[in-house]
Amino acid sequence: MRILISNDDGILAPGLAALYHAVADLGEVEVVAPETTQSAMGHAISVLKPLAVRKVHVAQSFHGYSVDGRPADCVKLGLMELMAAKPDFVLSGINAGVNTGMNVLYSGTVAAAAEGAFFGIPSIAFSLELSDELDFQRAGSIARTIFQRFARSKPPSGMCLNVNIPALDAGWPLGVRVCPQSTSQMEDFYTREMHEHGHSIYMLDGRMPDANSHPESDLAAIRERYVAITPLRFDMTDHRVLGQVGAWEWPGAFE
Ligand code: MN
Repeated sequence: MRILISNDDGILAPGLAALYHAVADLGEVEVVAPETTQSAMGHAISVLKPLAVRKVHVAQSFHGYSVDGRPADCVKLGLMELMAAKPDFVLSGINAGVNTGMNVLYSGTVAAAAEGAFFGIPSIAFSLELSDELDFQRAGSIARTIFQRFARSKPPSGMCLNVNIPALDAGWPLGVRVCPQSTSQMEDFYTREMHEHGHSIYMLDGRMPDANSHPESDLAAIRERYVAITPLRFDMTDHRVLGQVGAWEWPGAFE
C-alpha cells in the first residue's frame, strides 16, 4: 500500500517523523510537507504564487519533499505532481496540540487530510494534546493501531477521520471514543498592548470551551483521556434549513 504523509508543523517537526516511523513498514511511504510551520492556516492554498519544492533528507532517516506553501498545497501538489503513483491513504500529523471543537476549521493538520479526501483518498488527521512531555513515540504507536484498523475496514472513497490523542504524561489513553466535534464557541480573547510607534498590538489568547457544555464531544473525550475519533464531512450546506430557505418567496427574475 502507498501512503502520503503531510502535516502543518513543518517537515522537520518531531510529530511527522514519529508518524513516518510508526507506519514505514506498512507500505511505501512518501512525505510532502511544508517547509515551515503552518499552524492555523486552515484550508488555505497558494494562488498566483510559485511553490518552491526541495527534496530533503530528514533526521538522517527518510527523504521527503519540502514545499514552501500551505498544508493543503503540499497534499494537492504531492497527489498531482510529485508522487509516482496515487496513494491509498493520506495521513497528516502528528500535530503538536489537539484539533478539537471549532479548531477543526482553523487546523492545517485537518486541511491536509481533507485535501486528500477531496481527491477521494481515505485520510486521517492525527493530533496530540500539548503537555510537558510530548510523547510522540507513544502517540505514533497509537496512530499506527488506529490507521491499521481504518485500513482494514476498506474505507470508502474520501472518508476522513479526525483523530485526537490525549496527553500521554499520565499513561496510555483509556480507550477510543467515536464522537462528534464540539461546536461550542472558543473561550478566546485578545490582549492589547501599545507599540512604541503608537499603534495598538492585539494578541489572540484563550482556551477551549468548557467540555461540560458538550459532554458527548471530542473535547470531553480528550478531557477524560480517551482518543477522540470524529469522521468529518466537507459539504458545508446546512441541510436542516435548505428547504426552509428554498420555500421563501424569491424574485422570479432580475432586471
Ligand atoms: Mn500545527
